Amino acid sequence: MTNVTFSGDPAISPNIPPPMRRTRTAVDTKATRVISVTHYLPYICALQKRSEGEGSSPGSATSTPGSGPLHPHDNESTLSSDVAGPAASADADQYVWSFSRRRGHTAMYAGIRSLQADNPESVHIGSIGQYVDADGQRRYPDLLPESLRNHLREVFVQDKQCIPVFLPKKQAYGHYEGYCKSDLWPLLHYIPWDNVADPRKNVSYWNDYLAVNQVYAQAVLDTYREGDIIWIHDYHLLLVPQLLRQALPGATIGFFLHAPFPSSELFRALPRRKEILEGLLGASEIGFQTYSYSRHFISSCTRVLGLESTPKGVDYHGGLVPVGIFPIGIDVESVQASRSKPAVGVKMKLIQEMYAGKKIIIGRDKLDEVTGIVQKFKAFEKFLEKYPEWRDRVVLIQVTSPPKTESPRLESRVSELVTRINSTYGSLEFTPIHHHSAFLDRDEYYALLNIAALGLITSVRDGMNTTSHEFVVCQQERHSPLILSEFTGTASSLSAAILVNPWDYVGVADAIHEALSMSEEDKLTKHTQLYNYVVSHDAKFWVRSFLNEICSSELAAEMSHVTSGLDVDLTVAQYRRAARRLICLDYDGTLSPIVKNPSDALPPPAMLDALATLTANPANSIWVVSGRDQAFLEQHLGHLPKLGLSAEHGCFIKAPGGQWTNFTENLDLSWKADVLQIFKYYEERTPGSLVEVKKCAVTWHYRNADPEYGVFQANECQNHLENNVVSKLPVEILVGKKNLEVRPKAINKGEIVKRLWAAQDNCGFVFCAGDDKTDEDMFRALRKIQLKLTDDRKNGIFNVTVGSNLKKTMASWHVPETEDIVNCLVELAAAEKQEDTRIN
Ligand SMILES: [Mg+2]
Repeated sequence: MTNVTFSGDPAISPNIPPPMRRTRTAVDTKATRVISVTHYLPYICALQKRSEGEGSSPGSATSTPGSGPLHPHDNESTLSSDVAGPAASADADQYVWSFSRRRGHTAMYAGIRSLQADNPESVHIGSIGQYVDADGQRRYPDLLPESLRNHLREVFVQDKQCIPVFLPKKQAYGHYEGYCKSDLWPLLHYIPWDNVADPRKNVSYWNDYLAVNQVYAQAVLDTYREGDIIWIHDYHLLLVPQLLRQALPGATIGFFLHAPFPSSELFRALPRRKEILEGLLGASEIGFQTYSYSRHFISSCTRVLGLESTPKGVDYHGGLVPVGIFPIGIDVESVQASRSKPAVGVKMKLIQEMYAGKKIIIGRDKLDEVTGIVQKFKAFEKFLEKYPEWRDRVVLIQVTSPPKTESPRLESRVSELVTRINSTYGSLEFTPIHHHSAFLDRDEYYALLNIAALGLITSVRDGMNTTSHEFVVCQQERHSPLILSEFTGTASSLSAAILVNPWDYVGVADAIHEALSMSEEDKLTKHTQLYNYVVSHDAKFWVRSFLNEICSSELAAEMSHVTSGLDVDLTVAQYRRAARRLICLDYDGTLSPIVKNPSDALPPPAMLDALATLTANPANSIWVVSGRDQAFLEQHLGHLPKLGLSAEHGCFIKAPGGQWTNFTENLDLSWKADVLQIFKYYEERTPGSLVEVKKCAVTWHYRNADPEYGVFQANECQNHLENNVVSKLPVEILVGKKNLEVRPKAINKGEIVKRLWAAQDNCGFVFCAGDDKTDEDMFRALRKIQLKLTDDRKNGIFNVTVGSNLKKTMASWHVPETEDIVNCLVELAAAEKQEDTRIN
C-alpha cells in the first residue's frame, strides 16, 4: 500500500515528475470507477439501541434518504456536546445505525449520486462529522468503540457506496472551525479577517488542516486502483491533489472548487498561499464555477508562484494543469418530484389563504455576511418608499437558516431592520416582511417557491446559488421572474434573470418594481429561457462535462506529446560508446535556474565539478553557449581552463585555453541606437523592467515587472520593433523568457554549434541542452546534421530542452528542471571517472 508521508516542515515540497498520461477519449461513467471525495458524506448517522426481539445481523441499519424531517443540526458548531461516549463499552450487536440526509450541497451530492448509480463500483469518501448518540447527544467518533466504527464502515460500504473517514475531535475542529472557517472561507468570500486573530492559533489550525487533508489522501490511496478517476471537492481539501500526486504520479485527479476564488490581490494575503496553490496544482484538471474565479486562480499562480500561464491553464513542473469553468446544476428530477407532492399542495393552499390578494416575494438564505440579507431588506425598504402603490400588496417572506457559526451582530442588525421596516410600512393587519429564522420544512419551501410572484437573491458573494435553479423549476405554471445578484456564481449562466448589484438599493428597488409589473408574455419568455438552461445544465450534465474535460485534456496532452523524458541511462551508454564527444550547454534556465535578478544566477557547485571532470578528457569538447556577455561567463566559468565559451548567442567564442574571437567585427551594428530608443521607451513605461546593452545585442528584461502587464507591454514592444526595425534591418527579435532581444540575424547559437561539430572529427556523442527559443537554433542545426548521418553516430545526438513535454521544440528529449540537466552531467562525469579507474 502506498502511504502519504511527510517529513520536516509541513510545507509541501512537490518535487515530482510530470504525470504520465493515459488516453481516454470521453468519460464512460458506467465503465469508469470514480472516487469522489468531499468534506462530509451526505448522511447524518445516528446510533440507536436495538429494542428487544429485533434482529441483530451486523450489517443491519435503517435508512431514510430524502424522507422525513431533516436533522436540524447538520454541521458541527461546538465542541462542548462531546463528552465521554456512553457507547464506550458497547457491543455492536446491541446497536443499529440509522441515516438521514445531510442538509446543504444538494447539487454536489446529486452529481456524485448519479456517478454511483451508473457504476456500482464508484465510491464516495468523506467524513461522518459528528454522529448522534443513542442518548441524542452529538459526538465526534473518537470515543466510538472499534466494533461500532467497523460496523458503521461496513454499512456505509455495503449499502451506500461510501467510505467514511473518522476524524479525531481536535483535528476535525482545527480543520473545519479553525482553518476552513476562520482563514479560508472569509478570504474566498472577500471578507477581511479579524485583525485581532491569535496568530498562534492559526499555526495549529494550519497543522490540523494539513493533517486532515492527509487523512483524506490516505483514504483515497487505500481504495485507489489503476484507471480510476479521483475527484476532489471544495476548499476543505485543497492540499489533497498534490498529496495524491506525490504518491500516484500517473493518476487522473480532478479538483472542483464550489466556493468563489478571490482576486489575486486578496488571495496573496493568505500566509499559506504557496502551499494552497501548489496543493491544487497536483490535479489533472481544476474546475471553477465561473470564468472570473478561474481567471483569479490563474493570476494567483502567475503572481504568487511566478508560473507561466495561459487562459487555459498553468504550466507546472513541466506540464500544463488545465483550468476550466463548470457551473454546477441541480437534480431537476428530484426537485420536480418534491414540488409535486400532495403535501406541498396542501401547504400552498394554506399560504395562499394566509396572504390572499398579496404578491409574495420569496427569499431563502443562510444567515451570514455574504448572503446579502441586510442589503435585501434595505432594498425592499427603498422599494416601499419609492413605489407606495405596492404597499399592502406585496409581502417579502424571507427564510433564513441559522448560520454555521453564530453571528449575533448580524442577527441583531437584521432584526432591527425588520422591525423598522414593518413599523414604518406595516399596519395592524399587515406586515411587509415575514422573517422566519429557522430551518424550513421541505414541503413548505417548495410550496413557497411554487406560488411566489418573485424570487429575490441578493448575495454579495456566492460560489453558486442553487436556490435560483430550484425557483426556476418550481415556476413552470406561474413563470414568475427572478432577481439575481450579479455577484452570485449563477449570474453568468442565468442571463435571463434580472441581474442587480445588491449594494445599489435603488437599483434593486427598481428591479422589484419592474419584475412585479412585468407582462405575462415577458414573464413567459424569460422563464422559458431560464427553464431550458436549468433543465439542460443539471447536476448530471455538470458531472459529465467536468469528467469529459479531464479526459479530453489528457488526450490533448497525449497527442501533443512531442518530447520524451530524457533517458539518462541511454545517454550514459552512448557517451561511453563514443570515441569523441561534443557537449553544448546553454547557461540560464539550463545549467542554472532562472532567477529574478540575472546577476544572481550562480553556477551550482555540482555542475562545476562535473564540468571539470568531463573537460579533463581530451576526447571531449565541452562548451557553454550562452546569451550572456563575455564578462559574466569569464567570471563564473573562466576558471575551468578546458571549457569552451560562447557569449551573446554566438557573437564571441573562446576555445578551450584560447582567446576570445569576435565574429561581429565586420558587422554593421548601427541599428543598436534605434532599438535602444524603443526599448528605453518601454523601460520607462514598465516599472521593474530594464534594458541591457550587450556588445552586439540589446535586451529588454521584464522579469521584475508586474507579470501580466509585463507580457502585455512585451507584445506591444515586439509589434513596435517588427514594424520599425526588423523589417528594414538585418536583425531578428528573440522572444526569450521574460525578455526580448534584438541581435544580428547572421549569428546565432545554431551557427556556433555547426562550427563546433565540424571541428570535432568522428564525433559519436552530442549532448545539447537549452531552454528557450535561442536554443532552438542549436537543436535545428543538430537535427539537420543528424539527418545526413548514416552510421551509428545518428543515435548519438541528444537534443534536450528544459521544460514541459508539451513545449513546441526541435529537441527530441525534455527534462522538467535545470537540476535534471545538472544531474545528467553528474552521471556522465561519474561514467568518466569509472573509465579513468578502469584505464589506470
Ligand atoms: Mg536559456
